[in-house]
Amino acid sequence: MLEKIIKKIIKSRPQTAEGLIKIKRETSNKLKIPAPSNIELIEKLKSYKQTKNTRQIIKLLRRHPVRTLSGIASVAVLTKPWPCPGKCIYCPEEKNIPKSYLSGEPAVDRAKALKFNPYLQVAKRIEILEKNGHPTDKIELIVIGGTWSCLPLKYQNYFIKRCFDGANQKTSKNLSLAQKLNEKAKHRIVGLTLETRPDFITSKEIKRMRQLGCTRVEIGVQSIDDKILEFNQRGITTEQVTEITELLKNAGFKICYHMMPGLPKSSPQKDYKIFKQLFNDERFQPDMLKIYPCVVTKGSKLYKIWQAKKFIPYNDNKLIDLLVKIKREIIPPYVRIMRLFRDIPSNLIEGGTKISNLREVILEKLKKQGAECQCIHCREIRNEPFESFKNIKLVNRIYRASGGREIFLSFEDTRKNPSSRASTRASNGLSRTSSVHYGAGKLVAFLRLRLPPKNKKNIFNVLKNSALIREIHTYGQMTSIGKKSSNAQHLKFGQRLIRESEKIALKNGYRKMTIIAGIGVRQYFKKFGYRLSQTYMIKNI
Ligand code: SF4
Ligand SMILES: [Zn+2]
Repeated sequence: MLEKIIKKIIKSRPQTAEGLIKIKRETSNKLKIPAPSNIELIEKLKSYKQTKNTRQIIKLLRRHPVRTLSGIASVAVLTKPWPCPGKCIYCPEEKNIPKSYLSGEPAVDRAKALKFNPYLQVAKRIEILEKNGHPTDKIELIVIGGTWSCLPLKYQNYFIKRCFDGANQKTSKNLSLAQKLNEKAKHRIVGLTLETRPDFITSKEIKRMRQLGCTRVEIGVQSIDDKILEFNQRGITTEQVTEITELLKNAGFKICYHMMPGLPKSSPQKDYKIFKQLFNDERFQPDMLKIYPCVVTKGSKLYKIWQAKKFIPYNDNKLIDLLVKIKREIIPPYVRIMRLFRDIPSNLIEGGTKISNLREVILEKLKKQGAECQCIHCREIRNEPFESFKNIKLVNRIYRASGGREIFLSFEDTRKNPSSRASTRASNGLSRTSSVHYGAGKLVAFLRLRLPPKNKKNIFNVLKNSALIREIHTYGQMTSIGKKSSNAQHLKFGQRLIRESEKIALKNGYRKMTIIAGIGVRQYFKKFGYRLSQTYMIKNI
């Protein structure tokens, strides 16, 4: 099987890492096997006669840059299989795999092979990323496996502690010691994502999440139409989603919604309206999206409904048209589309789309229409060098969200979009521009500043009347901590954004700034006068 994949790659003569990955995926899908790792392919290729083409392929396999282009290496780990009280009709179920996941998905297979051991999952992943030539000193740890909040508290603590141990390559006595060690470790966990259901998020749960070091929460929203939610037995309401969105934002978290177009009882028109409402209605405004079109898999209740012909998934054309329209007309420049398709192997999909490179197909179609996706992912400057700084402008976009104001401050390379301009400032330091869509240029760095409603109770006393930095990010090929570089990561864009956000907060009557910092970036913020208080980095301004 591996031979067949290699032959196909050699014949196709890929010129880019992305093109190579596409061929690898498509061929494995056709052969109905999980895609082999780059290392497996490299090892096998070495036994072939070395030509210019094979050498180029090995180079591309080694240097597959996508995983670290956002500046941070992502490490996804799975919790052990555990029952979820949910009854969602589309949820796939497989023995010995966490609910809603299926074997054949790369992260699932890796976790299964390591018996869901958190230490080994982190340590091995770091090892492989390093072998592939990626810097691994900044890690975004993503904990998946269904509903985190349903897991026993003891297991939650154990799991996160062992993940930190895995990154530290050392076993600490307890979680807080492991976190302390990680602050200055070689592999620092700069962000921690937990995935859960909206109805399990309470004030108490949010406090626990902070103790564990969580900075981003992914929630399965799927739809914000209560009738659709009810038919699909989600067991949640739109109101619950809005309530926890507010709680999480006021605690400084970044929020990723999982959305599922094409659910039973929906239609492309309804889905379009739903996505429109996500960004027109201030109660939602997620920072990130994972869009997983509804597919039918064996073992789900939906499978029986589909077999009885009572549900017909969107065909590929319908789905592509919908997603193109959503990207072209709805997605604002302050949102990141993290994923557009689950890595479910196509042989497990009984109904619905099997296009694994959906993102590329959609971008291609957008291009033909002369349009572009404005989301953060599509605008990252990646490792393009910038020779001149004169094109890099500070842009500031404001929108209302969950009773507060969000300011998306960014440095953008406006060469591609000459219509871009730095925003004019009003006396409160905020842009006078009412539109948030104007002139989106290539993204060099950004910061999410939240000005929450004043005099409002907060789960954390320390956050009362404080402005919040929920996210700060610089792009460009990841540079190792301490090494000099000419790209975005180390050109002090981060520092300039922090200063700018402090000025804005001050002008708007806030005397305190709080950063929800991952454990591994606490040291970085100390340089700017921030100190640790109740798991946050805080400064009087
Ligand atoms: S909440 Fe998630 S894991 Fe639980 S049943 Fe629904 S889809 Fe499956
Ligand atoms: Zn995009």
